[in-house]
Amino acid sequence: MSNSKSLLDTDVLVIGAGIAGHTAALSASEAGARVLLIEKGETFGGTSAVSGGGFAFAGTDEQKAHGIDDDEEQFRASLWEASSGKADPVLIDAFIAEQLATYRWMVEQGVQFELYRVGILDKVDRMHSTGQGAAVTVLHQNYVKRDRALYLARAAANRLVTNGAGCVVGATIDHDGADRTVHASRGVVLTTGGFNRSRELLEIYAPDWAGAMKLGGRHNTGDGLRMASALGAAHADMGYVEASFGGTLNRYPEIDENPDDEPMLLLPFSNGAIIVNKTGRRFINEGLNYKQISQELLKQPDGIAFQLFDAKLMAQARRDLTVMNLEGALEQGYVRKADTIAALAAAIGVDVAALEDTVRRYNAAATIGDMEPEFGRLISDFGGIGPCIDTGPFYAIPTGNVLTTTYCGLKVDPEMNVRTVYGEPIAALYAAGEVIGGFHGAGYYSASAMAKAAVFGRIAGRAAAGNAA
Ligand SMILES: Cc1cc2nc3c(=O)[nH]c(=O)nc-3n(C[C@H](O)[C@H](O)[C@H](O)COP(=O)(O)OP(=O)(O)OC[C@H]3O[C@@H](n4cnc5c(N)ncnc54)[C@H](O)[C@@H]3O)c2cc1C
Repeated sequence: MSNSKSLLDTDVLVIGAGIAGHTAALSASEAGARVLLIEKGETFGGTSAVSGGGFAFAGTDEQKAHGIDDDEEQFRASLWEASSGKADPVLIDAFIAEQLATYRWMVEQGVQFELYRVGILDKVDRMHSTGQGAAVTVLHQNYVKRDRALYLARAAANRLVTNGAGCVVGATIDHDGADRTVHASRGVVLTTGGFNRSRELLEIYAPDWAGAMKLGGRHNTGDGLRMASALGAAHADMGYVEASFGGTLNRYPEIDENPDDEPMLLLPFSNGAIIVNKTGRRFINEGLNYKQISQELLKQPDGIAFQLFDAKLMAQARRDLTVMNLEGALEQGYVRKADTIAALAAAIGVDVAALEDTVRRYNAAATIGDMEPEFGRLISDFGGIGPCIDTGPFYAIPTGNVLTTTYCGLKVDPEMNVRTVYGEPIAALYAAGEVIGGFHGAGYYSASAMAKAAVFGRIAGRAAAGNAA
């Protein structure tokens, strides 16, 4: 602080301009506060700008239009089950109480949702797709139009500032190489995202994944976690970091991590592709989610697999949906293509007879019931293409695990007020989004990260704005 050269004054300082930062900043502004939103990178967005953009909400207009009967109690049960009963129920309650209002607020902001239908028999479709980066962009455009709402890029917070009573009153920041101190009279909201770009923190909290491929905001180095920890903040869910299955191995057959590699996250398995290992055999129920599959992949030869599908599924590719941008991936050379299964096997270096046998057995099983017996995959018509992999050309994506998110972090209460290791609130310090822990517990419910960031960001922004100046 001694070399700080200038002082910026605001009511609420929001640190980190992803989806949580924008919902916090907008809500604080709507509540009448002067707001400064700062971003470490050149541009806003963080992981939220590269994410698939799926938001899990229940009771929406899109669900109703598809005749889907859903409500808060079913959603609560799904979140709890996904967390393996390890989430903080208080945070799930806080989320459930605000999720529909947040959805409606985002619609009013101009965010467009489209229900992403997978149509698996025992699942309620709740993933509302917004397209890559679209939601955070809409919110950013709205935020910068507001009075007394400032945005500063290339401004990295490095320490929180407290007064003599331990109340957070601002932060020191590095803006374009200059040290500054921001004074925030009502509070500070940490929305700095996760820490998957910090090798040091990964070695401590998730050593199994420290060497995995990484995807997401390049500046997500756990700064919020460090800053709040320096004030005695407690942590939650630190033992539950998991990578996701679905990262493209761009240089396959080379598979060692290269720090410059930026994989794509592709999930055609959730639309009907099968997953085979290097021996050409399936090893898992592809109806599981990418976090569950990532664990099983660790046990497979070289920790790699291939997502295998046919021309019918390729025809469903969507460039606007990150995880289904199969054409883009094909153009980049990340997808192998062949007219027959035998030729595809040769192209990916897998035993021809084994792969042909796998596909034949899967197709036979998929046509006789609702569940294939070998791994228990529920069979649907996968959006009208049918379950069989039988129409050439055929495609295979060399795929590995990729660390997209960390999902553990600061312990907060239902107002998003950060708590100390003694359970006390840190006055005027709030946090939301991927920097917090406690919401996902030991498992991840698909598309709940963006929804959580939006819902909790709004709560945090409102709470900070509501503090007496
Ligand atoms: C490829 C991919 C696909 C995904 N798809 C989905 C999906 O479809 N649905 C879903 O729910 N989740 C998805 N996720 C996860 C989800 O996108 C993230 O959990 C979510 O975007 C986190 O939002 P956030 O606002 O907390 O953090 P971010 O969006 O990462 O924002 C944090 C911001 O803080 C900035 N920052 C960091 N440190 C500082 C500092 N010291 N000072 C100032 N600024 C700082 C960062 O630069 C960044 O811009 C996906 C993730 C990836 C990588």
